[in-house]
Amino acid sequence: MAELLLDNDIPCGKNNAFAPSLAAWHRMVLNQREYVCEKCHQAIPVRWRDRENERLPKNFAHHIISQNMAVQFDKQELRRLLTCGIAYCDSCHWDEHRRLGGWEFTGALTAFRKFKGLELVDKLGQGSVVYIGIELSSDKKLKRRYESLLDIALAFEPSLKSSINNHDIEYKALYVLSGIFYLNVFDELELLGWERMSTWKKEELIKCVDTANDKWNATMEQIAERYNHSSK
Ligand SMILES: [Zn+2]
Repeated sequence: MAELLLDNDIPCGKNNAFAPSLAAWHRMVLNQREYVCEKCHQAIPVRWRDRENERLPKNFAHHIISQNMAVQFDKQELRRLLTCGIAYCDSCHWDEHRRLGGWEFTGALTAFRKFKGLELVDKLGQGSVVYIGIELSSDKKLKRRYESLLDIALAFEPSLKSSINNHDIEYKALYVLSGIFYLNVFDELELLGWERMSTWKKEELIKCVDTANDKWNATMEQIAERYNHSSK
């Protein structure tokens, strides 16, 4: 096994819990597991990028708590917390993203299959990339459906209304569905206590995400029931 850590990849911060940079974070998380997927136990092929005289691995580790969430809630240090990382192969990495409800997780797109007349969005969510755009529609009927979904979703979580300015209707609906997931995760992390972030355990973080995702799925069922009933 090649040594994939650089001289400056020394853990820092309280209890040595943080990587010095985001690039180091990815290297350190994968290196800890010797580039073996934690789910399927297959070797993760190391990909390299050359920068000037340096050759650096360019693989990405998985953030248990979404990076977007860390930015949105101004908890940037979460992105470099070493216990927040999992070594996944590409395939297991995308599976995990499809399972969860947030914006950069295609799970939020998958949820559209629950809403009558909006199932087509889910087809776009079946790709292997994380960030997937939704094609904007000039279909008035479809637009009304999105508006109806958005109204119902916002009734469940009115605090998200301020986060969706300047977007098209499809994006607004997606942001609110994702936002409900992020708020759930934030609530779970708050129970753990932000002040002891550097001592959080990986299992605790995984449980937070799973609990939040279960709640999110239950909320999606309720929103879908109300939406499908109203759009008969
Ligand atoms: Zn795997």
